[in-house]
Amino acid sequence: MTSRRNLIKSLSLLPLAGALKPDFFIKKNSASELPKSAKRDYFKELGVRTFINAAGTYTFMTGSLMREEVKNAYIATSYDFVNYHELQDKVGARLAELLDCEAATVTSGAAAAITLGTAGTLTGLDPEKAGMLPHLDGTSMKTEVIMQRKHAIEYAQAIENCGVKVVYVDTAKELEKAINKNTAMYYFVNFLNYEGEIQWQEVLDICQKHGVPTMIDCAADVPPVENLFRFQRMGFDMVCFSGGKGLRGPQSAGILMGKKKYIDAARLNAPPFGDTIGRGMKVNKEEIVGMLAAVEDFLSRDHEADWKLWEGQINLVQNAVKDFEGMNTEIKVPELANVVPTLHLNWDTSKIPISGDELKEEMRNGHPSIEIAGGGKNSVSITTWMLKPGQERVVASRLNEILTQKTT
Ligand SMILES: *Cc1c(COP(=O)(O)O)cnc(C)c1O
Repeated sequence: MTSRRNLIKSLSLLPLAGALKPDFFIKKNSASELPKSAKRDYFKELGVRTFINAAGTYTFMTGSLMREEVKNAYIATSYDFVNYHELQDKVGARLAELLDCEAATVTSGAAAAITLGTAGTLTGLDPEKAGMLPHLDGTSMKTEVIMQRKHAIEYAQAIENCGVKVVYVDTAKELEKAINKNTAMYYFVNFLNYEGEIQWQEVLDICQKHGVPTMIDCAADVPPVENLFRFQRMGFDMVCFSGGKGLRGPQSAGILMGKKKYIDAARLNAPPFGDTIGRGMKVNKEEIVGMLAAVEDFLSRDHEADWKLWEGQINLVQNAVKDFEGMNTEIKVPELANVVPTLHLNWDTSKIPISGDELKEEMRNGHPSIEIAGGGKNSVSITTWMLKPGQERVVASRLNEILTQKTT
């Protein structure tokens, strides 16, 4: 009796805020005192081989490595419950402010941003309609999405998930003709701007004239950092980015941003709502905040220093291979998407008797394993932006070693 009263008394003497703070109960681990589980070598236990990524941001190579800020955000947010809607609202508002657009939301990747954005143009803010997708027959929803035939990439499947029919056009005239009362949206693939006959502004002019919402897929379009702002300013209603490529956020996150009415409608089709086409496209709270941390980190980075690092690394690799007789090397920077120094190698197989595929395979099978891109008969390509500093030396010496073996 007395002891109970004393206990209550002594509890009341504790600083209340401190007593109720979650870290009163669960100790957070700082990086310097990692828990045992963080030191476990899961990949080794599983027999999954790690590799040096001199290829780029490929989904099957698990995208990019998250920045420390992202990992810290992930862990820091893993100790408490929050309301999913509130978190998405507030992270979305912060992203919109950072990215200078009306609204934004975190999706489970750019492909999900495409599906959810498309769904929103069909359902608007009507939850009943969201429950009907992908079935459009007999509803009042629109049924068509237009794109240029040259923009028909594999990821455009994300649009068809919504049950719509894709209408392909080649020219501005065809676009004008294709727009009708069933047109829900126009889909543009940024990196194919110069491939298609109709480019950014002309597409926007035509679609805006007819009140057709526009979406641009910019999944792999940072760096440069300006691209995070460029397309909403240009006038696209919805802009989609991958979180797990150049932004170096969680691989299973991405951003849909743009006009508020489209972002709000997209969210109606997304988790936590159960009867939606996007229910399987869940982003956990840690990834939602991790995506914000990635954007903050990306915006505040010294991009020139990043560039100098990548360039120095690629020059080192080029120097290790360029003097082999019959070898052509060239460093190029793509104009759109994966805008980083890229080393292209192609060679005369009568002087260097190995195919591109074989070289790739030998790089992969060495110790450590190294992934490069391209392949085929007599060429490969290499980027350095996914390397950890220092790994360029390993890539350079291994390439040199293989080529030396083949030519002597
Ligand atoms: C990578 C990519 C996507 C898919 O992005 P995720 O974030 O992996 O869903 C879509 N479109 C283009 C052009 C891409 O490069």
